[in-house]
Amino acid sequence: MKKKTVAFSRNSINLFFHILTHCNLACKHCYINPKQHGEETLSLPTIEAWLGAFSEKADAANVIFLGGEPTLHPELSLAVQKAKALGFQSITIDTNGYLFHDILSKIDPQDLDYISFSLDGATRRTNDRIRGKGAHDACLAGIRKAVAGGFSTSLIYTVSRMNIHELAMMPSLLADLNINRFFIQIIGIRGKSVKAETDEARLQVSPGAWRDFIPEVAEEIARLGITVTYPRVFLAPDETFECAGLVAGNYFIFPNGRVYRCPLCEDYPIHSLAFKGNRLMRTGKINEMDLFHLNIPEGCVINRLVQPGNLTYAADGKPEYKIACCLLKEEISAS
Ligand code: SF4
Ligand code: SF4
Repeated sequence: MKKKTVAFSRNSINLFFHILTHCNLACKHCYINPKQHGEETLSLPTIEAWLGAFSEKADAANVIFLGGEPTLHPELSLAVQKAKALGFQSITIDTNGYLFHDILSKIDPQDLDYISFSLDGATRRTNDRIRGKGAHDACLAGIRKAVAGGFSTSLIYTVSRMNIHELAMMPSLLADLNINRFFIQIIGIRGKSVKAETDEARLQVSPGAWRDFIPEVAEEIARLGITVTYPRVFLAPDETFECAGLVAGNYFIFPNGRVYRCPLCEDYPIHSLAFKGNRLMRTGKINEMDLFHLNIPEGCVINRLVQPGNLTYAADGKPEYKIACCLLKEEISAS
């Protein structure tokens, strides 16, 4: 078993490219916020031009096409071809599994590194309470079709109080589906979750539940030969904290042209970059970059600002743990 903390790389770039915000589902935890992210569907020439802004470093850059639901974009297959032609290091599509526009038949599996599916429950009942009626069956059918078509697949499971109990059922399901990589995510208080008012919708799991349970399930899944990635979330007070916004090359691109360096900032107009007429420009002060430099004992400063409910303090007022950068991950693989 090989376990490693995936350090931020100064040399690699990840483009999380939201090519539209429209979606056929309305998941309870959806972070998409059309007021902040736009409602446009980007044209193919715009997608190409925005990818082109990163093309000098394409051989060290990974493109992840997202939405909304990216397969609702009628030219997604052509966008993949453009990214391939520009020489990007890897290309992934994140989908809810509905696979619109018969997307699998339009893409050569050789041109796509991963097609990544989102499922938030091992059972139909739990998943569909979060993602909507029919989403479980559609996702499983989509995975089976992709695997049969020769695509490499990932599965993303966003852990919340509504579905943590079904994580233990995932190893057998993942093995049955022939999934290559499994990503566990922690629910964030962004998008719709911010407005959540009911107890059911207060979805974040406790630090104890996260620390005691997630690594154990991850190891069980890794033993099946599936690579598992999950966020660190909690750091001991003496562990080193680092902000990816300052040291790594992550770009969260939205259809209205906003480009963030940190996903926790996406509900606010504090993006540090923006596309203006297809040119990537720095925005004025104050933006997210100014906040990244603030050094606080709680670790991530944006977490302290937008979701302080996940911090706890000792009697002397010191935080009991630091919140790691949400982009800091543990990776476990069988070899
Ligand atoms: S599938 Fe994704 S984009 Fe669509 S509602 Fe669910 S979380 Fe949001
Ligand atoms: S999550 Fe926190 S630590 Fe990570 S990039 Fe954002 S501000 Fe920085």
